[in-house]
Amino acid sequence: MDDFGVVGSGIGGACSALFLSKKFQTTLYEKESYLGGCSSTFKHQKNFYNTGATTFAGYEKDAYMYDFFKTHQVDFDKKLLPSALTVLIGDKKIERFQNFKAFLEEINSAFYHPKNASFYTLIVEINRQFFSLNDFYYTNASPLKKLQSLYSFKNLFMRFYPYLFINAEHFIQKYFGHLDKEYLNYLENQVLIVAQAKLKEVNFLTAALALSYQFMDNYYIFGGMGSLFEAIEKQLPHVKKNTFIEKITTTQSGFVLHSHKGEFEAKNIVLNASLFDVAPLFDDQKIKSYIASYQKLDLGTSAFMVYLTINSPKVFKHHYQIIHHEILKYTISNSLFVSFGDSYDTRMKQSVTISVHTKNALWDEHCILEQKMELEDIIKTIICEKLGLEMSEIVNSLSATPQTFKRFINRTSLGGIPMRQENLIFKLPSNDSPFKGLYHVGDTTFAAQGWLGVMMGVRNLERLICKG
Ligand SMILES: Cc1cc2nc3c(=O)[nH]c(=O)nc-3n(C[C@H](O)[C@H](O)[C@H](O)COP(=O)(O)OP(=O)(O)OC[C@H]3O[C@@H](n4cnc5c(N)ncnc54)[C@H](O)[C@@H]3O)c2cc1C
Repeated sequence: MDDFGVVGSGIGGACSALFLSKKFQTTLYEKESYLGGCSSTFKHQKNFYNTGATTFAGYEKDAYMYDFFKTHQVDFDKKLLPSALTVLIGDKKIERFQNFKAFLEEINSAFYHPKNASFYTLIVEINRQFFSLNDFYYTNASPLKKLQSLYSFKNLFMRFYPYLFINAEHFIQKYFGHLDKEYLNYLENQVLIVAQAKLKEVNFLTAALALSYQFMDNYYIFGGMGSLFEAIEKQLPHVKKNTFIEKITTTQSGFVLHSHKGEFEAKNIVLNASLFDVAPLFDDQKIKSYIASYQKLDLGTSAFMVYLTINSPKVFKHHYQIIHHEILKYTISNSLFVSFGDSYDTRMKQSVTISVHTKNALWDEHCILEQKMELEDIIKTIICEKLGLEMSEIVNSLSATPQTFKRFINRTSLGGIPMRQENLIFKLPSNDSPFKGLYHVGDTTFAAQGWLGVMMGVRNLERLICKG
């Protein structure tokens, strides 16, 4: 019997398996033939595409993620980017440079405001202070332990309370006095891609952290995001791929994971499959209803993806955000996030990944194929028009709806738990649970989505398991 069985190999599952394997007999189970979930790279015909995540931010020396990968000897090929993102809005182009002075010039030439310099200084300072704090943890093992863990947030609370209870839209309007409508639209879309929520839905701390990612170290990963998981996999002693866990039963000594490949026993399990989708796996009614109690956090938000293979002599930036003048059909957004492979990346150089926010409810199973083709065409037309790509330079294209994500990653809702003001920490699921041996990690649990958010959950889990 294993000490730990980890179900799912997204950021949370793969990285948890890394630290667990060092101390415990651990097996990682993944339904697909490759690791990474929303951050994987998949092969279709002979082309490679990043499934969802394309940006890798916050990998600076001495940061948790950096130390974690160094400790576990995860070595991958990467390149530091001077600009996290190129934003195209109306007739404006804004490079979100890491360098403060360069960015200030950029934002001032697009949206001059006398308070820009002090505003972005505040953003950088909030980021610096937030990531220097690592003394908090969060447990749900019992009501008393939960209360004690909430007390560990006191330093964070003391430092940031003026920003915790103020709505971001309100703060920004008050800070700037008057703000150009287009500038507000720009800020709205920058916050949305990180926090998965609108300015009016988040507090200012969340908005500031979302706006600050450009000032952190942003890397391009050669070979696609999946190559990072290939590096992780090399360090894992026991990985079972193509193994879909269909049912989980409880026993006196732990859990039994059932799959078409057999039954596997583990004293403890770490679930990395989305919390919104795992309740039906359990036979234990108490566990089922505990997990189902968090279902209300699922707002049914998802993504529509277009994957392209291009053959073009033009050189593109790595990441663009195209802010369109209207919300696109079958989506809830006017913003397209477009990532290009680096021209020196042999595997990904012709690969393009495009994403836009949608809702599961906008997809009608009776005409999903027609909807998919229509939106794919709309998006390709916008990309060509805005980035100067010719339709004839697109040699292959395919797209993914929330249903495609269900088929491959076993989840329809994406983007984790939106960082809305009402989702206070104590309302979030923790990385442990009131049930002995049951743990959870990933973007549907503490702390948030993306590399930075999920890795904060991994850190929390490591502390809960290894330090008690
Ligand atoms: C379109 C899009 C773009 C994004 N862009 C970025 C970005 O640029 N940068 C960034 O940092 N973040 C980005 N994110 C967010 C980031 O990708 C996710 O927050 C993160 O990858 C989620 O990781 P996770 O640990 O929750 O696992 P998931 O990615 O949810 O993976 C779960 C894994 O579990 C497996 N699984 C599920 N059920 C079972 C089962 N029963 N048995 C076995 N295996 C199972 C799945 O196959 C999958 O591999 C993006 C997300 C999306 C959707």
